[in-house]
Amino acid sequence: MHDPSCLFCRIVAGEIPADVVHETGRTIAFRDIAPQSPVHVLVIPREHVVSLGAAEDDQASLFGELMLAARDVARKTGLSDSGFRTVLNSGPDGGQEVMHVHAHVLGGRSLTWPPG
Ligand code: AMP
Repeated sequence: MHDPSCLFCRIVAGEIPADVVHETGRTIAFRDIAPQSPVHVLVIPREHVVSLGAAEDDQASLFGELMLAARDVARKTGLSDSGFRTVLNSGPDGGQEVMHVHAHVLGGRSLTWPPG
């Protein structure tokens, strides 16, 4: 389902350019426009799913593919040995700004915990 008002749906559709680093049948991964670490990639489903909080039980396979795509992004960008962080912000208190679910893959420097 393509939502023409959704920024990430428009990236999936090729209407807005993105630096794509990885693709699977149901996901696409591209570099964050405002990186918070040397490697900062967003992995999203091609279909419009609002957030992890809004996920349906029958989307387990899709979310599994999203997580394994995040793993493959880490491998492709050289983070497997040094490590990386995967974050899904959900809803206002989670800091979600784009309402199309996305997994942040962050790495390339030592990341503090907890985040600010
Ligand atoms: P969140 O706060 O979890 O919703 O994260 C949204 C992320 O999308 C932020 O890290 C933004 O920098 C990133 N972002 C916004 N617009 C674009 C874009 N056109 N291309 C790539 N990343 C983007």
